[in-house]
Amino acid sequence: MSILKFFSKSPSPSNLESSNSSSKFSKIDLDDLPPDPSKRKPISSYNPNQRDEIRRYYLVKGPHQPKGLDRPWTDFGGKMRRFPEEWYKSEYGNWIEYSKKEDKVYCLYCYLFKESRQNDAYAIDGLRCWNKKEKLQKHVGERNSFHDIARKKVDDLLNQAQSIHAAFERQTDKEKKDYRLRLTTSIKLVRALLNGGLSFRGHDESKNSIYKGHYLELLKLLGEINEEIGKVILDNAPKNCQMTAPSIQKEICSCFAEEVLKKIFEELGDEVFSILVDESRDVSNKEQMAVVLRYVDKLGNVKERFVGLVHVMETTSLSLKSGIDRLFARYNLSLNRVRGQGYDGASNMSGEFNGLKALILKENLSAYFVHCFAHQLQLVVVGLATKHHEIFKFFGEVSNLINVVSASCKRIDVGREKQRENLQLNPEVETGRGKNQELSLARPGDTRWSSHEKTLHRLIILFPVVIEVLEYIETSASDDAHKSQADGLEIYMKSFTFVFYLHMMKEILGITNKLCEALQKKDQDIVNACQLIRSTKAQLLDYRLEGFDSLLKDVTTFCDKYEIEVVKMEDEYVDPKNRRKKTNITNRHHYVVNNFNTVLDMQIQEYERRFNEVTTNLLMLMNCLSPCNSFSAFNKQNLLDLAGMYPYDFNIDEKDKLKYELGHYIYNMKDDTRFANLNGVGDLAKRMVETRKHIDYPLVYRLMKLSLVLPVATASVERSFSSMKHVKTDVRNRMGDGYMNDSCICFVERDLFQQVSVEDVMQRFQKMKSRRQQL
Ligand SMILES: [Zn+2]
Repeated sequence: MSILKFFSKSPSPSNLESSNSSSKFSKIDLDDLPPDPSKRKPISSYNPNQRDEIRRYYLVKGPHQPKGLDRPWTDFGGKMRRFPEEWYKSEYGNWIEYSKKEDKVYCLYCYLFKESRQNDAYAIDGLRCWNKKEKLQKHVGERNSFHDIARKKVDDLLNQAQSIHAAFERQTDKEKKDYRLRLTTSIKLVRALLNGGLSFRGHDESKNSIYKGHYLELLKLLGEINEEIGKVILDNAPKNCQMTAPSIQKEICSCFAEEVLKKIFEELGDEVFSILVDESRDVSNKEQMAVVLRYVDKLGNVKERFVGLVHVMETTSLSLKSGIDRLFARYNLSLNRVRGQGYDGASNMSGEFNGLKALILKENLSAYFVHCFAHQLQLVVVGLATKHHEIFKFFGEVSNLINVVSASCKRIDVGREKQRENLQLNPEVETGRGKNQELSLARPGDTRWSSHEKTLHRLIILFPVVIEVLEYIETSASDDAHKSQADGLEIYMKSFTFVFYLHMMKEILGITNKLCEALQKKDQDIVNACQLIRSTKAQLLDYRLEGFDSLLKDVTTFCDKYEIEVVKMEDEYVDPKNRRKKTNITNRHHYVVNNFNTVLDMQIQEYERRFNEVTTNLLMLMNCLSPCNSFSAFNKQNLLDLAGMYPYDFNIDEKDKLKYELGHYIYNMKDDTRFANLNGVGDLAKRMVETRKHIDYPLVYRLMKLSLVLPVATASVERSFSSMKHVKTDVRNRMGDGYMNDSCICFVERDLFQQVSVEDVMQRFQKMKSRRQQL
């Protein structure tokens, strides 16, 4: 349904015919062309000058063959049939297209080269003939049938050397050779720039400009270094083929992105997948989503791949949904293949994401949603900070401190200078890896959770520098408010309480931060994540039982080093709010019971609460797949119930078969030493493929893939966004969204990008448009 909702917005052929002349022949953006054959306008309605470009676009993209769709059943003389997807792979696969909306097949060739309404049943009206494949053969017909002529025209268009256009401008062998070298040089240069996430164009590309941007400058350099190249590029190239226009750079870039995407979709094959979505943060004013697919490849590895940025007109759930539909239609994907959804719960758009999630679930019941684990973890920390009064105050002061210290550039400069002196004076301070190089105190207010730990860690290391900065403000600030604020902060920082909280919270956050890092690993599987959560909780319990003395030791050492008064544990505790009143407790009692134990108990409770919400039925059932402790979690009935939660993946026969397969499977696994000591379902799936057991137990393997596909965190999407920031933002304004998207795909998926050959890009580039020069 969905895909169509979007396309129904685009003008239908009928009202196009009524709108005449000028608007009718306006230039078409190729990316706006509808993929669904039933939605396309006749080629003849486009500007004659652009028709070939449109034809090439459809041909390079290939026929519209969506897979895994929920196709309707039709009664053919008493027998129910539906469109057979195998037809894509048949001898008609080069041109057959399927429209979900009409539930009909069409012919791409005839659509592209239809001249009149004669003999064009496929091209215009489509055909529903699921019981008669021979009708396709009839359509192909004899030599010089309409279809055959269309096929020849397709070949001619793609093979320019044969085309009439080319016959007029036949090139000499030398011209061809020069062109090939020029194009290869440009492609290799674009590859190097994309690989580094570098911008192509400069601020000033005029003839007299000193630096014309990376692309032009490096091209010139290549020509200077290599004489052979120098002879064919820039001013030595024919005037109409210098290959320096921004549009050429963009086209090469787009070829690379398309080749990377081609590899991604080959890797995905016909498998099910999850989608991970996040909104764009402060990159531009336009709203956009980054979309990542998570799936299991043929070797049993979990893959998360960035497939593109989706621009949305407005941030409503419906508009996000139509953005996803548009992306899916473009890549022949179907919502029916989605088996999981992941969104960044901390995002500003989380409300809209909830709406989007519901819209997708409405179309596909198996598109399970699991709360992002990393986000839940963040809520644990936030929960703690707001519930314990002293901790709340501590974080408040820390955040003040950071504001004050980094308020003005001047202060930051002082900070850096002081720090540099400090590092020289104090060689024992750990240097390198950028750890102490910058006085950048990350703000804990950032929604990204792990920053809390980083902040505290840096505060411990940079403690003397921060104190010096505060003292500098006290002596040099122009207004008294600043002075007294800095003064107050210095007093607080030099108190035993502050040092104690600083170390305690750093320790606690350190334990959970390990979990946070583990959860953000790409190949993390959900069963393993649940186990990690359990073990982190156990560590917190251990720390509560045995951690106090070592904490106190650290705190005391720190205090001694910076001459801060250490409170004596055996003395009576004095309440700072009411110094005269007897408290009748020792300092030890105060710090152990009121602080250390209480905070850890709260943390542990919050853990149980948050992660019990996450650990829903689905995850408990999945846990039965775990190979840990020689498959001790295995439970046949639970796994059958799990299969029951995926109605699209297991039909009644298969569910019955699964029962027996599970019996053989577990017997075999426990017996086979190659399956001992595996760590998680991810490892198990890989081992299954290595030992070819996935062929012996296909249904069990299918269950494993379903559990692996569920996202644990939306970390990959975040990674895509940080790469995007790397791809310079000012460039985007000059090169446009398409370029931004293409260069992000290449930059994020660099492992696949490296595999793209220059020859492939050259061929794609050549087919994209009618080129003056031939290869
Ligand atoms: Zn045809």
